[in-house]
Amino acid sequence: MEAVAGFKSWPSMWLLAAMLWLATPQAASAQQADTYSWKVVQHDSRDYVTLQGLKEFYRFQQFVREGRSARLVSPALTMEMSVGSQELLINNVKFILSFPIIEQGGETLMSRLDLAKIVDPVLRPAFIRNIRPFTTVVIDPGHGGHDTGARSTYGTEKDYVLDLGTRLQRLLVEQGFNVVMTRETDVFVSLGDRVKIANEHEDAIFISLHFNAASNRSARGIETFALSPQGASSAYGARANDGSAFTGNLRDAENIALATAVHASVLHYLPSTDRGIKRARWAVLRGIELPGILFEGGFLSNSEDARLIASPAHRQRMAQAIGAAVVSYRNALRR
Ligand SMILES: [Zn+2]
Repeated sequence: MEAVAGFKSWPSMWLLAAMLWLATPQAASAQQADTYSWKVVQHDSRDYVTLQGLKEFYRFQQFVREGRSARLVSPALTMEMSVGSQELLINNVKFILSFPIIEQGGETLMSRLDLAKIVDPVLRPAFIRNIRPFTTVVIDPGHGGHDTGARSTYGTEKDYVLDLGTRLQRLLVEQGFNVVMTRETDVFVSLGDRVKIANEHEDAIFISLHFNAASNRSARGIETFALSPQGASSAYGARANDGSAFTGNLRDAENIALATAVHASVLHYLPSTDRGIKRARWAVLRGIELPGILFEGGFLSNSEDARLIASPAHRQRMAQAIGAAVVSYRNALRR
């Protein structure tokens, strides 16, 4: 039997996963971002805020513009962007913005939606309004039964996510969490039933587990999805470009904070290609009333990822990284 390290090295794991959150609260204004009087600039009938404004509000030491690149820098926290791009790096963790960074009238601008739905909840989760503490984690291993999901030469997604979910369950129970599994065996559970199971629990968070596949076999790495906010387009999921609100949007701020915790933790403990924290309107994310994410732990269509995913030791480390993230997320919600 392989050694189960559990959370013995917990304090250091926690510190590293939470490094974003250690960096900011004391540095930033104590004011809520949505009541602050931002300088607002309109573009395409959308509100934008200036990066200069972000510098002041979050008390970054420097705002640097070089060519198309823009950086906000503090000793422990760096945000990097590029005019015309939707990529945002916060301490090297990649986020995909809903709208590109733009330049207008000599100002570098970020959409107000991205400020509210990514930057603020990620930098200051303790400022999220109406946070409910949680004691339960709903783990949703994707696929099952006749729905095998993706395949590699070594195995199937449905088996790997069930194994990963079961390992995560064990670790979280050891930490005192109540854990609910949407499936514990190789059975088919509809997306609607997964949502129903999740919504039976109020003081809970939801983590859907998947592995990826792509026709481009060189694609590899991890990506983490949070539900697209209302008004943002989305490249993935049914009604992808529909800007209407879904039940899951009630938890936008918690969704992105949880996605950040899990994504950053897995990248830290299992260095792999960072494909970013993305937005999608996947069915399980649309319907849940809990803070929730969908995590894609690598590509079964890529030979290197497939070999890693086939390793029980790798899946154990991934479960540990996600478990550490759940704890760091819970702690980060406390001001
Ligand atoms: Zn899947």
